[in-house]
Amino acid sequence: MSTYSYSQISTFKTCPRKYQYHYVDGLGKTTREDSLVLTLWNVFHETLEYLYRQKSNTLVPSLEDLMTQYHQLWSQHLSAYAEPPVESELSMFTLRGIEYLQWYHETYEPFDVRVMGIEDWISVRLDEQINFRGKLDRLDADGDTIVITDYKTSRRLMPDDDDTNREQLVLYAHGVKHNYGRKFGQIQWLLIYPHLRKEYRFMIDDEEIWLVVSKYLTIMHDIETRKSKHDTLFADWVDQFPPIAGNHCQWCPFMQICPKRRHQYMDEEILSSDLWEKTITTLVEDYIRINEQSKALEAEKKYLSKLVSERLEAKDITARDTEAGSVWYQTRDFYSIPTTATEDLKQYLDAQWLLDQTLKLDTSAITNLIKDETLDMSQLDWLVVKSTSSWIVSKKKKE
Ligand code: SF4
Repeated sequence: MSTYSYSQISTFKTCPRKYQYHYVDGLGKTTREDSLVLTLWNVFHETLEYLYRQKSNTLVPSLEDLMTQYHQLWSQHLSAYAEPPVESELSMFTLRGIEYLQWYHETYEPFDVRVMGIEDWISVRLDEQINFRGKLDRLDADGDTIVITDYKTSRRLMPDDDDTNREQLVLYAHGVKHNYGRKFGQIQWLLIYPHLRKEYRFMIDDEEIWLVVSKYLTIMHDIETRKSKHDTLFADWVDQFPPIAGNHCQWCPFMQICPKRRHQYMDEEILSSDLWEKTITTLVEDYIRINEQSKALEAEKKYLSKLVSERLEAKDITARDTEAGSVWYQTRDFYSIPTTATEDLKQYLDAQWLLDQTLKLDTSAITNLIKDETLDMSQLDWLVVKSTSSWIVSKKKKE
């Protein structure tokens, strides 16, 4: 039985290689721990956890109590930092949390909700192979409605209809329904955005749960299949967890080992030939420069070829000598086959005993079928030989 969390699936969807490094190879965390955004998230959540635990002991903490707790939690978290953060950034983040708590206290005091759980894990079995689990900020009861509360401290988050964000909430709602559904008729999400000073509520029904759970089960089974193929002898035929680079890489702790990003960490090793000594950086720069020049020359060559051909054709001559050398004007006929005629032509060639000479196996089609796993390479290793070619792609920086 495998257990998945929403952040696992989300990591896989963003970059399968990052998923592999963390969840398959067990190489460490998926985010950098010493980020002020993450610390603010933790400290804010832990302060509200303190608030509701106090409340369940019939104590209503004052704003001053909360602030004392808040500052203590910041100190605890900062003591785990490898390097102290920049002072100006730290005060910006702590101030942001203070404003969030002031608003929260003013808005929700005296905190009269029937709390059923704070920072609790829920777990639900999705089928005979897959389990899903997630952590809830708070769970309240309100009549026959069970209310799941989530505090959103990231400034990038907005209460919109973003499908992906909603899917996470629906999966959690499924877990809550599974664990508490018999006692409650409805499930409601309450999202609290302290940076916007807003809350946002919506209901989740069975149909939506069914659709999202089915979609995510498909993704989870796909990951299971990839994991089992990754562990086999034929793992290197197809990359089961290809890296997908993008802006998200800047938060990835695996950049130093990732094939898409590790070049940024390469030493300036000196490479030499009889004529020069260069670093990787200067070689790359030379390549980009020459590549650009060759593209420009290629375009100029095409243009000159067209002009010379037109002139020679107009003069009805096939060659021209100059001091630099000679050119010849040549023509050749090409034939194409309309797609509607393909089958008829095959029949005709077959009747003429010429079909074998004109048909050949399409290796690029076979490569694509292996890549998308329609063909299983482990069944073909005695029929198909794998070789690897490599090339570089360059892009000139905009000036
Ligand atoms: S650096 Fe980027 S491409 Fe590489 S594993 Fe991390 S997220 Fe994926």
